Amino acid sequence: MTSLPGPDAAPADESAAVVAFWRHLGLPGLVDVHTHFMPPNVLDKVWNYFETGLEGGRVWRVAYRRPEQDRLALLRAFGVRRFSALSYPHKPGMAAWLNSWEAEFAARTPDALHSATFYPEPGADEYVAGAIDAGARLFKAHLQVGGYDPRDELLDPVWGLLAEARVPVIVHCGSGPTPGRYTGPGPISEVLARHPGLIMIVAHLGAPEYGEFFDLMQRHAGVYLDTTMAFTDFFEWLMPFPAALRPRLAASADRILLGTDFPNIPYPYLHQLEALARLDLGVTWLRAVCYDNAARLLGL
Ligand SMILES: [Zn+2]
Repeated sequence: MTSLPGPDAAPADESAAVVAFWRHLGLPGLVDVHTHFMPPNVLDKVWNYFETGLEGGRVWRVAYRRPEQDRLALLRAFGVRRFSALSYPHKPGMAAWLNSWEAEFAARTPDALHSATFYPEPGADEYVAGAIDAGARLFKAHLQVGGYDPRDELLDPVWGLLAEARVPVIVHCGSGPTPGRYTGPGPISEVLARHPGLIMIVAHLGAPEYGEFFDLMQRHAGVYLDTTMAFTDFFEWLMPFPAALRPRLAASADRILLGTDFPNIPYPYLHQLEALARLDLGVTWLRAVCYDNAARLLGL
């Protein structure tokens, strides 16, 4: 991708610009439900994938490829009061180890939301129950990277535990940027039909199946959408949000949550906020999306 659109250099004082954004809305800061913190060797692999691609073709340049302490300092300078620490396995035998790293990260990072994950494998129900007991407040499932069927019988007790505990799970189930065998609204809607009490946050606003995921949200009171990368120049170029869905966006102010994919993004953090502001849905909509909805949902 050589013709990547959008700004790729952060303004000289990006922090001041981000702080000015939420101050203008009268908010105490931001809550970002979709950021990634992982064991350094795993994050390095993710970054290498983005920067050199699978066949040596760059997917994108990671704007915040920096040491963990610098990334934390930056989020705090931006005024992101709470943020998630999402990680996800691409193979069996990895999730429990990721969860123990995430528990340790949450213990030393008071403003991070203790996050956890799972994979369809024997024992998944046990380590998920253990993570909930240990205080995990948010889970992540990545159907495209994980390549698994969310209807797998090994996951049935996992969805059940999450529904019972009312712990939200962010699911990357849209078919963007590349489809997986089990992405799209079909498989995950069967999970929701079976576990109607699940609180599920659909990542990336369900891109590119925006309309289908709005439908799913309408059918299930526990379904939310996160804004991660949506409406940015990059996503508008890759999988544009249909103008016809604008009224549904406006009407769903209480079900949309700020997410950004920091630090793995090809543009400045500020660009995600500006991309939301330029939708022109008003201050009340932005306040709900950038802070109030997540604070309510996560009991902050
Ligand atoms: Zn992500």
